[in-house]
Amino acid sequence: MEKEPYRLPLIKDRRLQDPHVVILGAGASKASCPRDKNGKEVPLLRDIHKALGLYDELKGYGFSDAELDNFEMLFSNINGKVEYAALQRKLETAVREYFQELRLPDKPTLYDYLILSLTEKDAIVSFNWDPFLTQAYRRNIDVGNLPQLFFPHGNTGVGLCYSCHVKGYANCLCPRCFSPLTDMKLLYPIGKKNYTDGDIIQNEWSGARSYLNHAAGVTIFGYSAPETDAEAYNLLKSSYKESNISPIAPFTIINLRTNEDEQRKKWAEIYDRQMLKYTDDIRETILWQWPRVSLETLFDAILQQRPRDNQKSFREFDSLEQLQGFIKTITEFEMA
Ligand SMILES: [Zn+2]
Repeated sequence: MEKEPYRLPLIKDRRLQDPHVVILGAGASKASCPRDKNGKEVPLLRDIHKALGLYDELKGYGFSDAELDNFEMLFSNINGKVEYAALQRKLETAVREYFQELRLPDKPTLYDYLILSLTEKDAIVSFNWDPFLTQAYRRNIDVGNLPQLFFPHGNTGVGLCYSCHVKGYANCLCPRCFSPLTDMKLLYPIGKKNYTDGDIIQNEWSGARSYLNHAAGVTIFGYSAPETDAEAYNLLKSSYKESNISPIAPFTIINLRTNEDEQRKKWAEIYDRQMLKYTDDIRETILWQWPRVSLETLFDAILQQRPRDNQKSFREFDSLEQLQGFIKTITEFEMA
């Protein structure tokens, strides 16, 4: 039998089974929360030593100007070297404490909209360390039917109980054995990361990959896949290729206009040009246009040729309660 050029979406009992997978990088946290509730800035990783006030101290070690200008390079160069072991530990602690203290403002942020734009069959894969996504998840949890979250580079908002295999919120107790949860480790931006640690990071990857394997829509938000992430980039691409659906699956890249050419090229292997949307604003995507039913609405229109008449798009809400109230009115999960 000849192989079909691509598969169709999987629908069971009139419900779409295939996930929309959103991949998040630093640009997404910057866009969602440029300053946190207490006015703290969310630094780019390359500048984090400056935000932490460690620049002058690092200067004293005699690092090169290039290293002092780019934390990622500096960290890569000292990583695992005995003579810098104490400094490395100090930097890791300072970084974790800085991120762990970040708090979402009370008003709705783009992360609240993002989480509420998806449902439990969907997934968000975040490469960020900041706790904003988990905080947004937690404050919207009563809405129910929320997406799965994966953190392949670790996250300061996540706590773990290794004996009960529980993944929860940082600084909380395990809901099963009531022991304090352990901090999730952070994977630093070094060239060779250990994704097969036989532990939590490997788990996060296998979760992320299993969703991408049958994704029928992908959105890449503020994730530029830098050189140090070559392995992650290849894993993401090969996992999504398995889904074999790109000619009909929407592929959205949300990134700066200045990165457009580079980003279009970067992901070109896994999207169909007809299905690509490039924008610098999440408000121009199908997640904003058709929250909770982004793929359902699209597939009804292009495959069944039955456009939905009752379309509910996001608008800017002043409070979380209003946003949550609105999202609860969206119940049209059945396919035509
Ligand atoms: Zn436990």
